Order: sequence, then structure tokens, then C-alpha cells
Amino acid sequence: MTLDICVMTHAKDPDRPRQAVDGLYLCHGHREQLRRLVAEMPARADDLDRAAGVGGGRGDGTHGGIAIDDAAATHRQHMAGVLASWCRLVAEDRGITPPTGPELSRTAPWLLTHVDWCAAHRWVDEMLTELRQVTGQAMGIADIPARRVPLGEQCLTHTGGERCEGEVTIVVRGDDWTAVCTVCDEKQEATPYLRAVQAGRWINTEGVITLARMVGIAASNDVVRQWHHRRRIKGRDDGRQKLYELGSVQAYLALRQAERERMSA
Ligand SMILES: [Zn+2]
Ligand SMILES: [Zn+2]
Repeated sequence: MTLDICVMTHAKDPDRPRQAVDGLYLCHGHREQLRRLVAEMPARADDLDRAAGVGGGRGDGTHGGIAIDDAAATHRQHMAGVLASWCRLVAEDRGITPPTGPELSRTAPWLLTHVDWCAAHRWVDEMLTELRQVTGQAMGIADIPARRVPLGEQCLTHTGGERCEGEVTIVVRGDDWTAVCTVCDEKQEATPYLRAVQAGRWINTEGVITLARMVGIAASNDVVRQWHHRRRIKGRDDGRQKLYELGSVQAYLALRQAERERMSA
């Protein structure tokens, strides 16, 4: 029996078979995706709590938050149930002790150590599909809108010595900026792809304007100078040009984006 073709469908070039990782039913990208989905399940559930106002200062339930609170709580339970049931399957099949409780904080780390074992079974496509679904639903309910900005930059990932041919899209979700490749499905650091990014994560004025445009904020040289002047973003002068600290720019843009969404809500 050879297990050398990934069993998942691939967005780009679906007819081209992808080499699976040795002994697994998944390619490198899908194995990483599975790992990430499991690892991030508790964080996605926390997003739901935030959306529902638990500890977020929106919890008195008198201003129309009830519907989303219900949906969030129900889905949180559903997520925990899904992960617990995959844990049960693994524990029974392997004859090992299951996690000590059904909470995501216990099941996710436990399941993470068995990801490759799962990926060596043909049913792993069901698992990956289900985890994608519950994660996508969680994001929808938490309503942290994602903006996708195709960059047209070639993916920097190398597999087996060859550079991936995919193009990268930047996904901006609140203050979380990631790069996603159309081919390898890899979620990556956004920084290397942002044009005009300098070593040490400093960007020039043009870089700030590009980032602002990506989240729908129109900025100009003057506006960027103003932001710096009003200490919204950190900057310095390297003698040739003004440079701005990427982290402070991302944080400020996320804030502006959140403000705007509150106003339009
Ligand atoms: Zn694959
Ligand atoms: Zn790629």
C-alpha cells in the first residue's frame, strides 16, 4: 500500500496530485493546517467569548447582545464536543488514556500530540473538513471580519527544494495579519510579504499607505506624518527617509478599523 497522494482537494490546480508526507494521507500544507486547527481551537472559542461579551464589558444582555450570546455559547459547546469526540476515537483506537476532561484546554493539547497518527488514517479528510467547518463557523459568529488582500507576490515556501508557485493573499483580522498561499494553503507570517518592509520590521511612508489602503483607510504622506506627530504610530528618521515601526502601524490601523466597524454597526 502506498500512501503518497494527499487526499484533500487543493484550491489551485485541483487535478494536480500533491505528494503526501511519508506515511500520511496529507500533504505538508494540509498536515500543518490540521495541526493549526487543533492547536488554535481554544483561541477560536475564546474569540466567541469575546464576541459574546464574557469579560469584554458588553455582557449585561440589555442591548441586543442576546442572540449572538446564545449562538456563541451553543457553538462553543459544539466545538468542545467535536474535539472531544475525535479524542475519544483516537484514545479507543490506540488503547490509551483519553484527555482528563472535555474542555478544549485539555482536548486540544492532547489531540495535537496525535495529529500525525490521525493523518496516517484515511478518515483524516473527515476530521480536517469538520475542524475547518467548526472553525469557520466560530469566526463567523465571533464576527471578526477578515479582509483579504491579494498581493500578487510569489509564495516564499519551499518544499523539497522547490519554491512554491502560489501567490500570497494577506488576511487581516483585527490585529492579526497573516499571509495565506493559494497553492500550499500555508498560513504564514505576513511581514516578509509586505512591500517596502525593512529589516527590523520598519516600513517607509509608502508601506504605511499601502497597509492603510489594505484595511480600507485612505492615507497620504500628510496623513501618515500626522499620525506620527500625534504619536499614533512610532517613527524614526534614518537620514534618508522616515521609517515607521510596523507593529505600531498594525496596532493603530486595527484600532481605526474597529472604530469604524463600531460606527457602522
Ligand atoms: Zn493537500
Ligand atoms: Zn505556497
